[in-house]
Amino acid sequence: MEIKFENGKWIVPKNPTIVYVEGDGIGPEITRAAMRVIDKAVERSYKSSKIEWVEALAGEKAERAKGDRFPKESQELIQKYRVVLKGPLETPIGKGWRSINVAIRLMLDAYANIRPVKYMEGLESPLKNPEKVDLIIFRENTDDLYRGIEYSVDSKEAASLREFLRRQLGVDVEDDTGIGVKLMSKYKTQRIARMAIKYAIDNNRRKVTVMHKGNVMKYTEGAFREWSYEVALKEFREYVVTEEEQAQGKPGRIVFNDRIADNMFQQIIIRPEEYDVILAPNVNGDYISDAAGALIGNIGLLGGANVGDTGGMFEAVHGTAPKYAGKNVANPTGIIRGGEMMLRFMGWREAADLIDAAIRKAMKEKKVTQDIARFMGVKPLSTEEFADFLIQSM
Ligand code: NAD
Repeated sequence: MEIKFENGKWIVPKNPTIVYVEGDGIGPEITRAAMRVIDKAVERSYKSSKIEWVEALAGEKAERAKGDRFPKESQELIQKYRVVLKGPLETPIGKGWRSINVAIRLMLDAYANIRPVKYMEGLESPLKNPEKVDLIIFRENTDDLYRGIEYSVDSKEAASLREFLRRQLGVDVEDDTGIGVKLMSKYKTQRIARMAIKYAIDNNRRKVTVMHKGNVMKYTEGAFREWSYEVALKEFREYVVTEEEQAQGKPGRIVFNDRIADNMFQQIIIRPEEYDVILAPNVNGDYISDAAGALIGNIGLLGGANVGDTGGMFEAVHGTAPKYAGKNVANPTGIIRGGEMMLRFMGWREAADLIDAAIRKAMKEKKVTQDIARFMGVKPLSTEEFADFLIQSM
């Protein structure tokens, strides 16, 4: 049965149907490993629930079977069931391929790109106290400079915009200037602010920090800050206190504050323990996601999600790692973490917690795949053995 969505709320039946896409390169191995681990966590947590997996062909596998990298039937399955666990897909360079990742994101109107970054004991990190890192970044996915409204210096569009700026707005623009437009909408800002705050409440997080450069870009990033506060204080007043209110002793489950973007980069390195959920417009979110990922020492272990009000796609942050494809050596942790996030959005928190605990145990006991084993100086587990270890630990 499909998962339904009402006002951004997930209505999950006992046996929800979830679409999986195996992906290219190491995709099939890590996706299958993740599905086994997720199934076990669900079985352990809820006696009468079970995920019904249905495959949507995409990428090379679809090309071989159907002569099309993203066939219509797969698109229909995703549109119908709306929750997708996805292995990495190759985006061939050139040849006019459209990214299937982007196509799925648009199909689901997945406006929030979400990436949790949490340290695990046993990993090597560039930080002195990496155990203090436990962040989750909500990056707006549909607005800002990445809307793609850009014109090269010698285009007629840039020429007419330069002319418009000079004549209508009295702005002095040099002739050798290319133009990109930064858009920030109230509706788009507020829907992701709402999702981040709601996530913080539902998952017992303690703080939401808006990352912006509003001191310079007042009417875009500054507005992002203002509109986010408006949601926090109008819609979630019973849960939220501002930093100033907290300083005056006002209690509240979630502290809502903001930081200037450049300062945010220092802060997550120097004082990671002071940050929790970070809410950022598209460009800032892009940068801070990778910087935060690096704090735990291994980007290959991270999962990510693209979520909207009517569905979501859950995946690893890394790509197809073609040199390891078919060798049963790749690390499936990234997509397993993606699956863990999927369970949290479904409200199946017990199962998600079991997965988190099992991964931590594996790292601590140095039961790891070769990408990490070589740094730990231990014998590596294969992809399947690693998944088996997680399953046995639950
Ligand atoms: P990549 O993440 O595939 O690989 C980067 C490095 O990390 C490589 O050395 C690789 O071997 C290693 N690595 C990655 N994941 C690993 C894992 N699970 N276990 C062990 N080692 C791992 O990045 P890339 O080489 O830049 O991209 C390869 C392909 O992946 C490209 O076609 C790209 O378009 C695609 N890609 C897809 C997604 C996605 O589907 N979301 C994301 C990123 C890249």
